[in-house]
Amino acid sequence: HAKAKGKNGFQAFQPAMEQRAQKRLKLEANLRRALDLGELELHYQPQIDVRSGRVVGVEALTRWHCRELGHVSPAEFIPVAEETGIIVALGGWVLRTACRQAAAWRDQGLLDTLVHVAVNLSARQTRDGALMDEIRAILDETALPASLLELEITEGVLMENVNANLDLLHGLQAAGIHLSIDDFGTGYSSMAYLKRFPIDQLKIDRSFVHDVPGDGEAIATAIIAMAHSLQLSVVAEGVETLAQLDFLRQAGCDIMQGYYFARPMPAAQLTALLREKRSSWGERA
Ligand code: C2E
Ligand code: MG
Ligand code: MG
Ligand code: MG
Repeated sequence: HAKAKGKNGFQAFQPAMEQRAQKRLKLEANLRRALDLGELELHYQPQIDVRSGRVVGVEALTRWHCRELGHVSPAEFIPVAEETGIIVALGGWVLRTACRQAAAWRDQGLLDTLVHVAVNLSARQTRDGALMDEIRAILDETALPASLLELEITEGVLMENVNANLDLLHGLQAAGIHLSIDDFGTGYSSMAYLKRFPIDQLKIDRSFVHDVPGDGEAIATAIIAMAHSLQLSVVAEGVETLAQLDFLRQAGCDIMQGYYFARPMPAAQLTALLREKRSSWGERA
């Protein structure tokens, strides 16, 4: 009896697993062609300085509209790109596209030393020995000053391989690139490590911002205090409400990013926003 039941259970389980494997294969096959088919696009989300209300940064976020699968979230396809190695080509495309756009904005007088473009780096990219050369070539080709580029590395990726990342980050810093730790508070870095990394800023993970008001408050306050004691600026991610904005401002947070201000948007839209709204968040922020 028990045997029959087990067998049934197994049979019911199998198709679900197969379905998942098939879905994943389909995603992977489509992702392989996405670059060539021109299905990828970068959207840009502004980062607002709390004191001046000005846009001080723009984060590039990849969007994929697949002709077979429709819109696929980066939370779904970035891990697949990472596991399959597709991220090497994809990440290069993201860097090149973001730097080209940043150079265009700069030529239009919309970016300066105070306004930069941030690009997310994946784990695999940080382990790629050719990354530094690739970035140099892209900066060269786009004529973008390195100081207008910021790279975001998650706390988790940073702590995976401290020594290799120390070398990489020192190389990037020497090239004049700004460095930001993404999703901060979700990993296991210690203050001692943070002090050794040549970084410019911490981004409070949006799960903590989401829990403001509430349990997120103590964590956000602690991260801000620690960052400031290390001379780092702090960005709060995922700011959606005025209550969150008010709390974070009062807690001393420097920069905010979130739907309360603006969603990630196509380059053309952000160009218009940079033109009109360079200081219009002044009274609200
Ligand atoms: P992330 O780097 O932490 O980016 C912030 C994410 O929060 C983005 O999600 C953004 O759209 C979302 N977000 C911004 N404001 C709000 C808000 O107020 N509320 C909520 N609920 N969400 C907000 P997105 O674009 O879906 O990207 C998810 C993650 O995928 C990113 O997290 C990043 O880790 C990864 N990713 C996206 N584009 C790239 C890329 O080009 N390269 C790499 N390596 N990773 C990328
Ligand atoms: Mg920044
Ligand atoms: Mg990021
Ligand atoms: Mg994040």
